[in-house]
Amino acid sequence: MMKVSRYLRGSGRVLAFVFVASVVWLLFDMAALRISINDVNSQLTKERVVREREALRQQVVKSGFGHPVQRVAVTQNAPLSSGIRLDRVYRQRGKEDQMLVGKKVDSFEQQRDNLAKTHSSTSKGQEGAALQNVPSKEGVSAKKKAVNLDLNGTELEKDRVIDVSHNASLPVVVSNVTQISADAQKEKHTTLPPSEKKPSNDRDALQKAVEEPDVKTNKKVDSESEPKQSRLQAEEEHRVETTFKPPKNNVKEVVNNGGEKGLVRKVNKTDLNTEKQPLKSTSLQAGEDTKSNSTGARNLAVHKVLSLDMTLAPRDANAVGQFGVAAFVASNEDVEVRKRWDEGHFNVYLSDQIPLDRAIPDTRPDMCAQNLVHDDLPSTSVIFCFVDEVWSTLLRSVHSVLNRSPPHLLKEIILVDDFSTKDNLKQPLDEYMSQFPKVRIVRLKERQGLIRARLAGAAVAQGEVLTFLDSHIECNVGWLEPLLERVYLDRKKVPCPVIEVINDKDMSYMLVDNFQRGIFKWPLVFGWSTLTEEHIKKNNMTVTDPIRCPVMAGGLFSIDKKYFYELGAYDPGLDVWGGENMEISFKIWMCGGEIEIIPCSRVGHIFRGQNPYKFPKDRQKTVERNLARVAEVWLDEYKDLFYGHGYHHLLDRKVINIGNLTEQIELRKRLKCKSFKWYLDNVYPDMDAPLVVAEGLVFNRGLRKCLSLQNGSLTFDICDLSKQSQHFNYTWMRHIRQQDMCVAPGKENSLAVHLCDNTNSVHRWFHKSSNSAMAEHLVTVVVSQSMCLEAGPQGDTLHLNPCETRNALQKWQFTHYRAQR
Ligand code: UDP
Ligand code: MN
Repeated sequence: MMKVSRYLRGSGRVLAFVFVASVVWLLFDMAALRISINDVNSQLTKERVVREREALRQQVVKSGFGHPVQRVAVTQNAPLSSGIRLDRVYRQRGKEDQMLVGKKVDSFEQQRDNLAKTHSSTSKGQEGAALQNVPSKEGVSAKKKAVNLDLNGTELEKDRVIDVSHNASLPVVVSNVTQISADAQKEKHTTLPPSEKKPSNDRDALQKAVEEPDVKTNKKVDSESEPKQSRLQAEEEHRVETTFKPPKNNVKEVVNNGGEKGLVRKVNKTDLNTEKQPLKSTSLQAGEDTKSNSTGARNLAVHKVLSLDMTLAPRDANAVGQFGVAAFVASNEDVEVRKRWDEGHFNVYLSDQIPLDRAIPDTRPDMCAQNLVHDDLPSTSVIFCFVDEVWSTLLRSVHSVLNRSPPHLLKEIILVDDFSTKDNLKQPLDEYMSQFPKVRIVRLKERQGLIRARLAGAAVAQGEVLTFLDSHIECNVGWLEPLLERVYLDRKKVPCPVIEVINDKDMSYMLVDNFQRGIFKWPLVFGWSTLTEEHIKKNNMTVTDPIRCPVMAGGLFSIDKKYFYELGAYDPGLDVWGGENMEISFKIWMCGGEIEIIPCSRVGHIFRGQNPYKFPKDRQKTVERNLARVAEVWLDEYKDLFYGHGYHHLLDRKVINIGNLTEQIELRKRLKCKSFKWYLDNVYPDMDAPLVVAEGLVFNRGLRKCLSLQNGSLTFDICDLSKQSQHFNYTWMRHIRQQDMCVAPGKENSLAVHLCDNTNSVHRWFHKSSNSAMAEHLVTVVVSQSMCLEAGPQGDTLHLNPCETRNALQKWQFTHYRAQR
C-alpha cells in the first residue's frame, strides 16, 4: 500500500494521471470511430431503405395516392338537396364558377327529384336484380332496355371464336366478335358531315326530330345509309335533350345556329370552345405544327356535346350507392367486407350491392355541357384489359360506357381477359356480354400483363381511335366526345379524361381538384400537381381548358389508332404493370405529339392501395425493370438521375436483365424523336433535373487545398477555379469524375483514376447523402468495409483510411451543389 502511495507522489502522480487520461481518451476515440463506422453503415442501410421507400412510393403513387380528392363526397345521409352540396365540392373555384355550379347542382337536384317523383314506384325487386352477379331475366331485360343503343347497324355473329394470335403476335382468342358487314366497314364516320354533302337530308333529319319527339329510338337503322346515320344522331341528340332540357328549344338552338341557310353552324376545324389556346405558346409546342398534325382544315358541322345518360332511365332512386353517394354497411357486415376486400383491394362486398348501372352526378364544370363538337368525330374502340377483376366493377365499367357514350361513336368495347383465373369471368361473362352486340371478348392464353394485353386489344380494334380504360371505372356524362374532339382536331393529341375517385371504402364518386396535371418526380414516380395560379392567370385559363401534361396517369386515354402504331405502340418488352405510362408519355411528347387532360371528360376510377392480382415475378423487380427500360431508351444522359435516386443496383445487369432494347432505340431514331433535354425544356420546364449533384473545385478542409488531376495522377494544388485540372463533378452515379475519368480506390488504400464505369460499384462514393456527421466525407466501400478519402497532412499523398467523423483531412467540399440529397 505504502509502495503504491509512493508511486502516486510527485512525478509518479503526474504519470498516473497521464496514463488514466490516455486510457479515457482512447476509449472516447474508439467510441467515435465506432460512431463513424456505424454512420457509414447506417448510410448504406439508409440507401437501401430509401430504395425500398421509393419502390413503395412508386406503388402508392401509381395507385393514386396524392390525387387531390375533394374531400366532400356526396353521402347517403346528406342528400344533394341539403347538407353537402356539389358547389362546395367546387369550392376552390372563383365566385363566378360557384354560381354556375350552383345552377348545376340545382339541375342535378332537379333531375334527381324528378327521377324520384317519376320512378317512385320502381320496385325493390328490380334493384335486387341489379345486385346479382348474373342478373335475372327481368334484370337483363331491364338492362337491355337501358343499353339497347346499338343503332348503327352492327350485326352480331354469336359464338364466333377467332384465333388472332398471328395478328397480335400473342396467343389470344377473340370470342363474341361483332361482325360488321363489308359495306358497313367501308362506311366511316367521316362520311357524316351532312352539311357539306347532303344538307337537306340532315335538315330533314333534325327537323323530323323536332317534329316527331317520340321517334322510336330502338328501331333498327340501316347504318349504310348516310342520311340515316345523321338522322340517328339527330334522334340521339333529341333523345338526350329530352332527358335533360326542354327538347325543342335545344334542337332549335342548333338549327338557329345554322343561320339562314345552313341547318347547323359551320365552323373551321379548330378548337370550337376556347378562343384562346393557352397552352400553345411556341416554347411549349411539341413536334410538328397543328396544321400538319390535323387531318385537314375543312368546314364542318358541329353540335352541342351530347349529354347522353341512359342511367336516368327508370330505376330505384334508393338503391345502395345510387347517384354516387357513399354507401355504408352495417357494423355486423364488417366481417363480410373484410373477407371480400382482397378480391379487389376495395370494398367488393359493397360494390356487389350497388346497381351495375347506377347514376352518378354530372361533375363537369358547367360550361362543358354547352361546348360544341364536330359532327364527324371518329369512332372509337374502348379497350378494357382485366385480370381477375371483380364482377360487379367490371360490369359497371362496361355499362357506364354503353350508357353514356353516343352509340355512333362507340364502335365496340373490347374486353381483354389477361388470363384471369376466376370462373365467373369465363362462360358467365361470355353469356352476360352476349346481350350487347358491341362487346367483344379477347382471351389471352397466358398471362401477358397490362401492356401486352392492351396491345392485343388494339390489334383487333376496328375503331379509328383507341380508348383505353381500366376495368374498375365509371364513365361520366358526356365523357367521350370531348376526347374524340381533341383527336379530331389533331391526330397527335392524346387526350385523357379527368380521373375522378371512386372511394375504395364507401364507393362514393368523389371529385378532384381542378387544374391538375400529371407529372413525375425522380426516379420516374408518377404524381399529380396543381397548375400554379400564375400559370392559370398568365394563360387566362378557365376550368374547362385542356391541360397539357408532362406524363399521363396511364390507365385512361384516347389515341388515334394509326398514330398509336406510328409511335410503335407500347414497348412490348414491358412486363405486367408499371412504367408504361412513362414510356408512352415520353414517346408521345418527344416524337411530335401532346398529352392533355380534358376537364370536360370525366371518368371515376377506383384507386386501390395494392394490386389485387399476382405478379408472375417479384413485383418490385418487375416495376424497376420496366422503368430501367424506359430510362435507357428515352432519358438520354438524364437516365443518371433515375438510377441516382435509389436505383443504382439496377445498373448491375447481372442482377437485373432488362432485356433487349435494340428495337426501341431504333424506333426512336427512325421517328426522329427529340431529346429528353428538349422534353424537359419545353414540356416540363419546372422539373428540377440537374445533371450532376455537385461540381467545381474539390476543397479539402484540413489541407485547405484542392484536388487536382495532372498527367493521370491525383495531387493537391492551391485552389484555382480557372484550372480545368481542378474541376470535378460529383455525379448521380456517385462518381468523382473529370471528363471520362473517375477517382477510384487503388491498391493498398491508395487511389487511382480509371475510365468511369457505371456498372462498377467500386467507383461510387457516398457524399452529402445525409446531414450526419459524415456528410462532408467521401466514403467508399472496399471489401465490405467503409473507408474515407483522406489527404496526407503535407498535401503530397491521398489515401483511404478508416472514417473518422472529426478528421478535417477527410472533409471535402465541392464549389457548387446542384441537388439536395
Ligand atoms: N391488368 C391486366 N393485366 C395485368 C395487370 C393489370 O390486364 O397483368 C389490368 C387491370 O385489371 C386493370 C388495368 O390493367 O384493368 C390497370 O391495372 P390497375 O388497375 O391494377 O392499375 P392502377 O390503376 O393501379 O395503376
Ligand atoms: Mn386501376
